[in-house]
This record gives sequence, structure tokens and C-alpha cells, in this order.
Amino acid sequence: MKANAETKKEFVIPGDYIGVAEEYLPGEGAYEENGKIYATLVGNLDLDMSRRSASVISKTNVLPQIKEGDIVYGEIVSVKPQMVYVDLLALEGHADKKLSANTKARIYVSQTDKKYVKTISTEFRNGDVVRARVVDTQGDSIRLSTAEDSLGVIRAVCGVCRKTLENKDGNSEGNLECSYCGAKETRKTANDYMKAKL
Ligand SMILES: [Zn+2]
Repeated sequence: MKANAETKKEFVIPGDYIGVAEEYLPGEGAYEENGKIYATLVGNLDLDMSRRSASVISKTNVLPQIKEGDIVYGEIVSVKPQMVYVDLLALEGHADKKLSANTKARIYVSQTDKKYVKTISTEFRNGDVVRARVVDTQGDSIRLSTAEDSLGVIRAVCGVCRKTLENKDGNSEGNLECSYCGAKETRKTANDYMKAKL
């Protein structure tokens, strides 16, 4: 691949020409050969003018991008009449990588369950951890759905005492109970409620 020394590409792949050795020292993710510097990693080119170094910041250190169809985990942070707001915690398959801070999403009442849901507050409450599918990333907020058996609340918080609610009957009807205060609440639970691992 030939390029002139003026070229400063943002994104490079191994073997891409970065610059001449008179201009830059090869940093991390770069090597010199016959007076020219090439990338050894997939990533974003970082040209440090003060240190005159050319490095490649590995793509694997970059935050995962959320796209339609992805499964995500998040915490319910606000319950409105027609929707809940979710702070996204992790992307399935990338649970070791943090999402950028304050990644917000919403679940509308119509995308809560396969069956008709009248009031979303019977399905989610603040502090619950949910597993959901990304259905839309356009617009001002990511939209999620929990209308699948494997999706929904995987850990629910008692509205009275904030302890974790238990699924005592063991089915997926979403009837939960608090062992501490005896409160009975409902949720749109995932079919592996309390057994789920992030
Ligand atoms: Zn309780």
C-alpha cells in the first residue's frame, strides 16, 4: 500500500503505511522498515507531534458499539407511565468492557411483554436489573424490548425494603416475594430470574 507522507488516516490496519522514519518514531502498534513506518495493529492512528511518535491505539480498547439486535444489561433508573429509563451496564459478549458512562435507553410499555401490558409499573421498578434486546438505536435514545421469554428482569429489588425479591413459585409468571418484609410484587421476569450471570 502506497501513500505519501502527508497522509494521516484515522483508522489503520496492520501493514498500513503511517509515515517516514525521519518524521516519526514508531510507537506502540507500529514498526519501521526501510525508513518507513507501518501499523502492526487494527486501530486508530495516534500521531504525537511533541514526541514525534506514531502509535496505533488498538480497537479492542475502544468501547463496544451498541447496535440493533444486541442483548444488553441495564438498571431501571426511572419509571414513567408509558416507559422506563434504563442505565446500560453491559453488552452481552463484552461483559468485561465498560460501556461509556451514562449510556441511557428506554423501554416502552408496548415492548415490555408479548402479552398486553397496561401499566409498566407492574413490570419494572427502580433498581431492577434487566436483560433486553436493542430494537432501535436511531433518534435521541436507544430503545429496548423485553418481549421474549429470556428477556426481562433478572434481579428485582423490593419496593418496600430494597432487598432482592425471590421467585418462590419457580415459574416465569413474574410473581415475586420478599423474604424479609413479605411484600408481594410482580415483574416482567426473564425465564432465568436470579440464575442469570452477566
Ligand atoms: Zn421487602
